[in-house]
Amino acid sequence: MSKFVGAHVSASGGVENAPKNAQKIGAKAFALFTKNQRQWKAKPLTSESIEKFNEYVEKVGIEKKHILPHDSYLINLGHPEDEKWQKSLDAFIDEVQRCEQLGLDKLNFHPGSHLKKISEEECLDRISEAMNETLKQSSSVTLVIENTAGQGSNLGYKFEHLRYLIDKSIDKSRVGVCLDTAHMFAAGYDLRTKEAYEKTMQEFDKIVGFQYLRGMHINDSKAKFASRVDRHHSLGKGEIGLDAFRFIMQDERIKDIPLILETIDDTIWDKEIALLYSFMES
Ligand SMILES: [Zn+2]
Ligand SMILES: [Zn+2]
Repeated sequence: MSKFVGAHVSASGGVENAPKNAQKIGAKAFALFTKNQRQWKAKPLTSESIEKFNEYVEKVGIEKKHILPHDSYLINLGHPEDEKWQKSLDAFIDEVQRCEQLGLDKLNFHPGSHLKKISEEECLDRISEAMNETLKQSSSVTLVIENTAGQGSNLGYKFEHLRYLIDKSIDKSRVGVCLDTAHMFAAGYDLRTKEAYEKTMQEFDKIVGFQYLRGMHINDSKAKFASRVDRHHSLGKGEIGLDAFRFIMQDERIKDIPLILETIDDTIWDKEIALLYSFMES
């Protein structure tokens, strides 16, 4: 088994609840927020919470490398204003430290937004500076840049943006990317037919490289192709359709990384996981 499928599960009541929630839906991987994603400040993780997290992760048989924590939605590492950029950087470093405390080796984040106040390149440079400062102030976590739909002024909607950030990194061994299928599709990367899927993935490999792929978000899209709108949907119910997910499950270049559902109906995640695994055989 080379595919590790799960979902972004709830960690409410404590991070230790996330592995239990993953087990309930038959997941072999999961994503979580290590703090409330809509608040700047969070209480430090207690040693009790960390111990229980480790205990439950081991009990449910999920490997730490198949856990993909996601940072807070408030953080904007490309913020055009210095004070707010610093606030985001401080919060981001705190998130990385929480991951290190939990023994997790990755943190998934959205690159950032220029808010129409600076150019795309200036914004990417600010993101890069924040990433490098974080790498200096931490020791083991890989910063996993997520591609975006390009809604509003969000960067990361082109593979070239991801490549730019990798190129500017002071430690390429601790930078990776996460491909979100709904974001790719909304950004204008087609996945609907075998030919389109291959073309998109070859472009990804040429510009970024599969060696940087540390995770994927497996979502259908309510938003239309190339609409630059970020709206997830359940698998097979959106504009992408099921074929794309079959191609992913049969793609040998995608192996040993967390494949995470962020689809809108969490009551059918168990069925979606089973469906994805069934695609490995057909
Ligand atoms: Zn995300
Ligand atoms: Zn995502």
